[in-house]
Amino acid sequence: MSNIVAIVGRPNVGKSTLFNRLIEQRQAIMDNQSGVTRDRHYGRAEWTDHFFTVIDTGGYVVGSEDVFEEAIREQVEIALDEATVVLFVVDTMTGITGLDDEFANVLRRSKKPVFLVANKAETSDRMHAASEFYGLGMGEPYPISAQTGSGTGDLLDAVVKHFPTKEAENPDEGIPRIAILGRPNVGKSSFVNTLLGVERNIVTDIAGTTRDAINSHYKAFGKEFILTDTAGLRRKARVSDNIEFYSTLRTIKAMEESDVCVILLDATRGMEGQDMTIIGQAIKAKKGVVIMVNKWDAVEKDHKTADVWRKEFLRRLAPIDYLPIVFASVHEKQRIFQVMEKAMEVYENKKKRIPTSKINELMQPEIESYPPPAIKGKYVKIKYMLQLPTASPTFVFFCNLPQYIKESYERYLENKLREHFGFDGVPLTLFFRQK
Ligand code: GDP
Ligand code: GDP
Repeated sequence: MSNIVAIVGRPNVGKSTLFNRLIEQRQAIMDNQSGVTRDRHYGRAEWTDHFFTVIDTGGYVVGSEDVFEEAIREQVEIALDEATVVLFVVDTMTGITGLDDEFANVLRRSKKPVFLVANKAETSDRMHAASEFYGLGMGEPYPISAQTGSGTGDLLDAVVKHFPTKEAENPDEGIPRIAILGRPNVGKSSFVNTLLGVERNIVTDIAGTTRDAINSHYKAFGKEFILTDTAGLRRKARVSDNIEFYSTLRTIKAMEESDVCVILLDATRGMEGQDMTIIGQAIKAKKGVVIMVNKWDAVEKDHKTADVWRKEFLRRLAPIDYLPIVFASVHEKQRIFQVMEKAMEVYENKKKRIPTSKINELMQPEIESYPPPAIKGKYVKIKYMLQLPTASPTFVFFCNLPQYIKESYERYLENKLREHFGFDGVPLTLFFRQK
């Protein structure tokens, strides 16, 4: 369960300023990581080791003078349904208005804790003015300035006391983020629909707030996962889109956000240049990859066909020989489960950490039996190696002459790492460092 803090109040009291202040640091970090910035009205915040989600309910309400009543109803509904704690923001520059009263009337009936936040209290005059809001019957006002941040510490100290649980920094951590990729018409939307039709279940979507469909959290076939860029699938219907440009952009974005890419091919067309480009991009981005050869129902085949195709694909992809290939049919619901299972496996492989002692124990004999070839009479000695604690598996080999390690030898080491530790579907990175 996620702790949610909802910000409500009439327009112009400073809700979005407060929202931005609360999520400020966290957001900057998260956006840096994923490489994308999004305009949204919910975000993650932290105070004294308590992590929570903030919703700026104002952002979800299109308010004009005549729809205020409707707006209030909607805002308060969202807040009361979803929130652990409600921040009711008022403005010390204007004092109590009729609209503040209306909000108070509804909020007073709430069973959720409501904090009365008297904003824009930078001056001592306005600090004093804050006490006027006792009149709303919502308890003690907390004078703050969303702009400067003053007073927000005391407010948050009080707010976090109402959280029933202390939640993890990122509740989605440990859940595979999967991108469904492939060129147009390979069957991506059909696949996603089948996947989700099985057990349509958006786990963490905040109802009524149209949390952006990117990165929604699902459960299907008893597996929990996050699909990246499902929004793109929906928008595809728009004819006016520049399909080619749009799908490229979408591919890159979904890929960036994912741990594992399920890349679909169309069996009726084989593996084409465009498919290989997408696979190459995913490998370069150090993502886990599962290849799903879709429309297998439409191919004339016997018991040997899959093997023949697999060999042909691997020949085309050489030297990349570690990607799982599943022959599937969305239409006949054939091996859909296997694709997801593979994706989960690849995810686990990507997270795998091999202890330093284990790597050296198994790899040193391989190096001794086939040492790096001498170059210009110089011998390269690899002394020891370890795996770095990075998001995708990365190994460092310490040696005397790192510049003399040839690509072919690097490939030998990579193959041996794969043989011993099984990194199916995951690109490995090898570094050679002087020691
Ligand atoms: P919202 O409509 O409730 O989301 O309000 P905004 O966050 O957009 O703020 C409305 C106006 O109040 C903007 O001009 C803000 O710059 C201003 N404002 C917000 N917070 C403060 C504050 O703490 N002090 C002062 N002086 N102005 C503020
Ligand atoms: P997208 O552009 O990658 O999202 O592809 P769509 O999901 O829109 O599918 C493109 C076309 O391929 C549609 O006509 C689908 O009915 C068809 N299709 C999808 N999956 C299969 C399959 O497993 N077998 C066959 N024969 N056709 C399929």
